[in-house]
Amino acid sequence: MFDSLENAYQAMGISKEVFDFCQRIEVSLEERFRAIDKITECNQLKVLNAMQKHHLAEAHFAPTTGYGYNDIGRETLEKVYADIFGTEAALVRPQITCGTHALYLALSSNLRPGDELISPVGKPYDTMEEIIGIRPSRCSLAEYGVSYRQVELLPDGTFDYEKIRNSISDKTKIAAIQRSKGYLTRPTFSVGQIGELIAFIKQINPDIICMVDNCYGEFVELKEPSNVGADMVVGSLIKNPGGGLAPIGGYICGTKECVENAYYRLTAPGLGGEVGATLGTNKDFLQGLFMAPQVVGGALKGAIFAANLYEKLGFSCVPDSKESRYDIIQAVTFHDPQKVIAFCEGIQYAAPVDSHVTPTPWAMPGYDSDVIMAAGAFISGASIELSADAPMHEPYTVYFQGGLSYHHAKFGIMKSLAQLEKKGLIKVFL
Ligand SMILES: *Cc1c(COP(=O)(O)O)cnc(C)c1O
Repeated sequence: MFDSLENAYQAMGISKEVFDFCQRIEVSLEERFRAIDKITECNQLKVLNAMQKHHLAEAHFAPTTGYGYNDIGRETLEKVYADIFGTEAALVRPQITCGTHALYLALSSNLRPGDELISPVGKPYDTMEEIIGIRPSRCSLAEYGVSYRQVELLPDGTFDYEKIRNSISDKTKIAAIQRSKGYLTRPTFSVGQIGELIAFIKQINPDIICMVDNCYGEFVELKEPSNVGADMVVGSLIKNPGGGLAPIGGYICGTKECVENAYYRLTAPGLGGEVGATLGTNKDFLQGLFMAPQVVGGALKGAIFAANLYEKLGFSCVPDSKESRYDIIQAVTFHDPQKVIAFCEGIQYAAPVDSHVTPTPWAMPGYDSDVIMAAGAFISGASIELSADAPMHEPYTVYFQGGLSYHHAKFGIMKSLAQLEKKGLIKVFL
């Protein structure tokens, strides 16, 4: 059954029509895939170089317990991260529960009462609203006397430099720049664009700390925001840099000053980064980081494959089939709840874990409409693994990301198409 590609896909529930259609799309993408391979290759060498330079050794994988003093694996891991991101220091810990926590840590440790935080890129990621206190929330920055300003993007999605200049005052301490669009419709920013924005802010006041929410952006380009002036880059290890192997964690890479503040905030004043047992996570963090460029490359190819396939079928995709990519997220708009459900079912049925369950829309806390989610991941909630989710309201857009290998991402997309076809919602033709 698995003796040829066509037979293997047939065994996995993909009709000949869907198979032929998808193979034709894939062939048309050869050139773009080659360009991604080059980025993967460069980033692979960058990661390897950092590991060799800091003499990564088997002894670094040993678990520590209790206070975790002298955890040489943790120290090496943090040096390797700092090297890759081109920063003075790094905080990479299993005690950071997720990306939101890492962002809160970066902000709360570097802001003091009376300081102001500014978002020069419009509304930040949903969970940031509670951190900042845009939505009143216990222990928000607002409760600790930190004020907030937001400058909307211009209608074409670019920075409103004039308003940014006018919004900066003596109180402005941190500018928070979100790289990925997350679940918004604005474009994701390239590292180059972020560099221009940082240069503009620094020229108004060089003391303003520029922090970049780097979620979903790591290893997509040859440079990271910390290579173009960011004082801190922050992200989640169950997204890109964990390579699918990190079971938990977050990172903050940045200036010594900024990262040390985060150490003291994570543990306690007087303790800092000297404590924090790693309980055996070092090997998975490091091996995941080693795999990350490859995994991100595969996820990117999957996203491009999806955009080309669904655009060909008449659905609008963001980014579109031709655009450059600055994160791994793909949005497909269906304008039809049934199609959204079928798409997510296909993604779920393609998963290595929980492929036998059927996702259904539900009233998730914190959302104003039902949400459908598809995920069958080895690491619970890991969105570097193949996953999709959609709020059940117009314009019925599905956000899709991840895949630990390109071939799995491709199969997930093919399965989504097969499910749409099976339910009679679309017709695939050549
Ligand atoms: C995922 C994400 C976060 C938060 O990460 P969690 O791990 O879900 O807390 C923050 N910002 C952006 C842009 C993200 O994509």
